[in-house]
Amino acid sequence: MWRISYSYSIKLYKKDMIKKIETILVDVPTIRPHKLSVAIMNKQTLVLVRVLCDDGIVGWGEATTIGGLSYGEESPQSIKTNIDSYIAPFMIGMRSNEVGKAMKRVRKAIQGNRFAKCAIESALLDAQGKRLGIPVSELLGGRVRDSLPVAWTLASGDTKQDIAEAEAMITQRRHNIFKLKIGAKPLDIDIKHVLEIKKVLGDQISIRVDVNQAWTELQAVKGIAALQDGGIDLIEQPVNADHILSMARLTHRFSVAIMADEALKGPHDAAKIASQSAANVFAVKIAQSGGLIPAQQVATIAEMSGIALYGGTMLEGGVGTAASAQLFSTFFDLAYGTELFGPLLLTEEILNERLDYRDFSLIVSKKPGLGIEPDLEKINYLTRAKGFGETLQTITA
Ligand SMILES: [Mg+2]
Repeated sequence: MWRISYSYSIKLYKKDMIKKIETILVDVPTIRPHKLSVAIMNKQTLVLVRVLCDDGIVGWGEATTIGGLSYGEESPQSIKTNIDSYIAPFMIGMRSNEVGKAMKRVRKAIQGNRFAKCAIESALLDAQGKRLGIPVSELLGGRVRDSLPVAWTLASGDTKQDIAEAEAMITQRRHNIFKLKIGAKPLDIDIKHVLEIKKVLGDQISIRVDVNQAWTELQAVKGIAALQDGGIDLIEQPVNADHILSMARLTHRFSVAIMADEALKGPHDAAKIASQSAANVFAVKIAQSGGLIPAQQVATIAEMSGIALYGGTMLEGGVGTAASAQLFSTFFDLAYGTELFGPLLLTEEILNERLDYRDFSLIVSKKPGLGIEPDLEKINYLTRAKGFGETLQTITA
C-alpha cells in the first residue's frame, strides 16, 4: 500500500518537472540591409528556446539580439552556450508549473544574461498558459487591448528608397508610424534625410528617429532642435545610455518627446531614469528587461512616474514578437504604440501560422500560451549548420 502511494506521488511530482531545455540558432536573411548606427544587418540570428515538461507540454521562448555584440553584451552564441552549460542543467527537475519560483531561483543563481532569462521565462509562461488553457496576457494580469499599433523602421539609408518603402506600407495599411535610424552619418546629412521624408509623407504620418546613442550632448542639442522644428514626434536614445544626466538635460530642454531605450536594462535602470526625469517615454523590451515580468515592472515604474510607454523590439522573429505582444497588451497606456515588426523584416517565416498584421496593427492572439505554433520543419531547415563548434540539432515534435 505504501509502495503504491509512494510511486503514485513520485509519478505526480515527476509530471510537473522540467525535463529538457533546448536552444537553437536560426539564421534568417532580412528583406533588405537594415542599417543602424551600430551595425548593418543582412540577416538575423534567432535564438529559440524550447522547454519540454514531463506532462508533455512544450513551451517556446526567444532570446534574439541585434548585430552580434554591437548592440548589447549578449550574443546569440553566448546566449546559447550559457543556457546549454549553466541555466538548463540548473533548471532540469524544477517544477514547470511554478514559474515564479523557478525564475526566482534562476535570477538568484545566474548573474546577468537578461536575454537568456527572458527566453526561459517566456517558454515557461507559454507552457503554463497552454497547461491552463489561457493566453500569457491573462497570466500577466490580463490584457486591456486586443491589437497593438505597429511602427515600421525605415533603415535602407537611402532617402528615396525610404520614402517609396513608407508609401507602400501606408497604401497596404500596414504602418503609418515610421522610425528612422540615424546617427551613422554626419548630423547635417541625417537631419536633411529625416526632414525630407517628413515633408513628403506629411502631417498625418508620425515620424520618429532612433539615434542609437550616436550623438554627443552638443550634437543632440543641435540635432533635436532641427528635428523638433520639422515636426518629428519622438527622439530615441540620442546619447550614450550611461549619460543619464545628459538625457535629463535634453528632456528638460525640448518639448519633443525623448525616449530611453538602450539605457533601460531592467527595473533598476527604469527607477533611476524616472527619478532623474531623464526621459518622457520608455521603450519597454522584454529581452533587455530580463523577461516579461521585469519588463512589466519597467512599465509600472513608467506609469507611476508619468512616463509614456512604447513597446520595443530586438527584431525578434515570431516567438519573441508574440511574447512581447502578450505583455504589451496588458499595458494600460501605450501612447507611442509598438515596433513589433520583427517577423516582417525577415524573408522566412518560422511559425506555421503567421502573426496577424492588419490595419496598421498586430492582432494579439487569444490562443493558450503565446498563441503560436513553431514550424519545426522550417526551423530545422534554417538551423545553423555545424561550425563555430556548434552541433547541428534536429528537433522533432
Ligand atoms: Mg532603439
